[in-house]
Amino acid sequence: MEGLATLKINDLVEEGKHLLGEFVGNANGKTLIVFGGIHGNEASGAKALKRVLPKLERITEKLNGRVFFLAGNTRALNKGVRFIDSDLNRHWTTKNIYYNEPNLKNPPNLSEDREQKELLEILHQVIRTAGNEVFVLDLHSTSADGVPFATLGDTLRNRDFAQKFPITILLGIEEQLDGTILEYLNNLGCVTMGYEAGQHFAESTINNHEALVWLALVNAGILKRENCADYEKYFAVLEKASGKGRIVEVRYREAVNPEKDGFVMKQGYENFQPVRKDEILAHNEKGEIKAGETGMILMPLYQKQGNDGFFLAREVAPFWLWLSKILRKSRIADLMHLLPGVKRHPSEKGTIIINTKVARLFPLQIFHLLGFRKRREVANQLVVSRRLYDTKSPFVN
Ligand SMILES: [Zn+2]
Repeated sequence: MEGLATLKINDLVEEGKHLLGEFVGNANGKTLIVFGGIHGNEASGAKALKRVLPKLERITEKLNGRVFFLAGNTRALNKGVRFIDSDLNRHWTTKNIYYNEPNLKNPPNLSEDREQKELLEILHQVIRTAGNEVFVLDLHSTSADGVPFATLGDTLRNRDFAQKFPITILLGIEEQLDGTILEYLNNLGCVTMGYEAGQHFAESTINNHEALVWLALVNAGILKRENCADYEKYFAVLEKASGKGRIVEVRYREAVNPEKDGFVMKQGYENFQPVRKDEILAHNEKGEIKAGETGMILMPLYQKQGNDGFFLAREVAPFWLWLSKILRKSRIADLMHLLPGVKRHPSEKGTIIINTKVARLFPLQIFHLLGFRKRREVANQLVVSRRLYDTKSPFVN
């Protein structure tokens, strides 16, 4: 569709109206939920969904499942800002989800409480009625130009799904961020994938988002490949945009608050650009900020709002992916608490506490291999939890 990039978003999304489209072919089939614009300054996802809508409408009866397209932060989308009061993609903490539970009728304190309550109402309904696997995509874009990539919570089910796409996959970013919508849905057992499709205002970003949605319909098993007109074209779009497909692991996040600490990123960095240890990447009022290790830079912050200055990452060798698959399917993870300096958490299931003074030989990477996610680190204690639905879906018997 021509000219969609120049359309104002409020022509596309109404405040408080999240459901952009709903298509049910086989009600007992798999489910695909796609979010566009969880960040209100990233309208590209919602625009792409709007583009797919009329095409999907024509082939609804061919869908072996259900598809829901949702606008994220509708009030922020209408103002073209990342958020109104609070980042909606950091808002999915246990406390907020409980407070904004639709049945509880707690008054919303923030604009994003309202958004969350509205979204929860839809998500509860969709998940409650799911009789088969539930897949979730979250469409994002970045302030800087660069290679698009997918972000995953590191479960084997997420990996299996993501590896069907010709894209670069980033693991471990969710461990650096609290309260993302995908972490919430992942913990409910959904297969989840975030996708950063390119620069906020580039037409190619909308094209990448659209291509991802079509391939997701096929890869989720909801749409047969022969019923997806232009499948090859969409595949080629993603393949071309991604450059070299690879799996990369996040190792470091620079937490910032540009309004208070004067954080300014050095100009000219792009996603996946190699950086060397001690290279000057940014500065704040205290001085220079250097790379703590050699690797690649991710999501350098070139806008005023946001608390992630940049991330540092490294490519993961196929051997480690293979090894972690074997280990997670074994029962080794259940025995970790028997190691010296490691004990079970007294009340949290699947959680262990590691005394890093005693258990020096077991760095966080070992626990990653076994499917644990870092929760917190205080003094000499590292707390990690196993992902609930790493290898098995709660939606499939
Ligand atoms: Zn975003």
